[in-house]
Amino acid sequence: MLSGRMMDFPLTIAHLLERAGSVHGHVEVVSTLPDKTRHRGTFAELHERSARLANALTKLGVKAGDRVATFAWNHRQHLECYLGVPAMGAVVHTLNLRLHPTELAYIANHADDQVVVVDLSLWPLFDKFRGEIKNLRHVLVVRDTGGPAPEGTLDYEAVLADASPTFDPPALDENAAAMLCYTSGTTGNPKGVLYSHRSTVLHAMIAGLPDAIGLSADDVVLPVVPMFHASAWGLPYVAALTGTRIVFPGPHLDPASLVKLMAEERVTVAAGVPTIWMGILQLLDAAPEKVDLSCVRTMIIGGSAAPASMIEGFSKRHGLEVTHAWGMTETNPLGTVARVKRHLRGDAAKELALRATQGFAVPFVETRHVDSDGKVLARDGQVMGELEVRGPWVASSYFGDEGADRFTDDGWFKTGDVVRIDAEGYVTITDREKDVIKSGGEWISSVALENALMSHPAVAEAAVFAAKHPKWDERPVAAIVLKPDAKADKDALIEHIRPSFPKFALPDEVVFIEQIPRTSTGKFLKSKLREQYGNILVDKA
Ligand code: ADP
Repeated sequence: MLSGRMMDFPLTIAHLLERAGSVHGHVEVVSTLPDKTRHRGTFAELHERSARLANALTKLGVKAGDRVATFAWNHRQHLECYLGVPAMGAVVHTLNLRLHPTELAYIANHADDQVVVVDLSLWPLFDKFRGEIKNLRHVLVVRDTGGPAPEGTLDYEAVLADASPTFDPPALDENAAAMLCYTSGTTGNPKGVLYSHRSTVLHAMIAGLPDAIGLSADDVVLPVVPMFHASAWGLPYVAALTGTRIVFPGPHLDPASLVKLMAEERVTVAAGVPTIWMGILQLLDAAPEKVDLSCVRTMIIGGSAAPASMIEGFSKRHGLEVTHAWGMTETNPLGTVARVKRHLRGDAAKELALRATQGFAVPFVETRHVDSDGKVLARDGQVMGELEVRGPWVASSYFGDEGADRFTDDGWFKTGDVVRIDAEGYVTITDREKDVIKSGGEWISSVALENALMSHPAVAEAAVFAAKHPKWDERPVAAIVLKPDAKADKDALIEHIRPSFPKFALPDEVVFIEQIPRTSTGKFLKSKLREQYGNILVDKA
């Protein structure tokens, strides 16, 4: 190798923490508390408190590589764990508070959590599985509701107060583990994904680019996406890097609270799953004159498909821009962003169609799609296959080496998403593999049907799933939630979408329900619909 090269300077979260304090110290962090009041702090305080946390953990005997779990809403103490835990060499493991206690116990033991930082407001939930965590040594309680820390636990604030504010980060290997996130485990047990310092920092650098998520020191970011889900899409780390003001929603995730928070804190970029934004769109539609959201530059929507009708509704009726993005826990999580390339602009309908795709890969993420034999398919925008990705923030294996079949011999990760890819690199997800509808040998895209159904003015939400069929094996059935006081029957809905689909792709049946069952991260839970209505066509036959 040639001599006289650049330094081998490690990409670590310790640097992000240092930078947050020394360069962006004045930047504000706003946290919504359970009683709806807002705590206001700064990056300088964040830096000092994260340093105290790092020192306190060392004093408590936490060693490099140990897992320190969080069981918390989105707020400043959670952010302190995001920065302080990896900075001292340990691994921050975010527990998903929407999971069942049995699952949480499984995950906490699988991760071998030794310390848990828990919100007092979540204590009743935590109490249901804490006894099951085998190697649990310390519980630090964030007294967000003001009451005393339960017996046998440590008060997070007292622990911080006792620790030194001066922190000298240990030498860290950039490839060392920094964060542990679990997939939801819709199929089989949840699997752990270890983010390294390097993957997290590189991800933050790319996610921060203007054509990716894009955050600057002029922005105010609202991560609605929970910090227990795929590192809140890396937004906290991007903000630490760029000096972006952060506004946390705490436990208040209902549309009215979020809209109020966005307006009052002059949020410029908010991020969350489609179900959150569907609720917000309905609220705005019902009372458009009441809220001033002119501060909002864009809303990042991902986690499941953002329907074109929603993207259009926000833009046409409220002047609000949606940025549609795709990612997975296994990809740290950002993979693709639906920007309309300059030369593809000009025709509103085509632009909308592109914005409703999952977009093209961000730098350093590579995409391809393959058939069931692993043969790489053409990027013709037509042929469907499984999406595979690779890149510096794509998992190369799962924690504990489970699920080895998801990784190909030639170094790609199999996403389980069925997609088309066009010549420009735009990826369109037609389904998750487990949700694909196979009707007499033809694959029917549930996502395309849902998008079309959700463009009917009476429809609040639509989920299309496979129901068993005596002749065709499976046929699509639509579960529909109507908007309050709106009316539409099966025929009206089918007529509405008929022009956009071949006859065989139209749903055989429509069921009207109160709410579509959701996963722990707010996605439609189609397995539940299949369980409940999977035999509806057989029973009718
Ligand atoms: P899980 O959904 O299993 O809880 P993840 O949050 O990691 O775990 O989800 C990743 C999956 O979410 C992707 O494989 C894909 O199916 C889906 N997904 C993410 N973003 C989008 C999007 N913009 N459009 C459609 N599906 C998406």
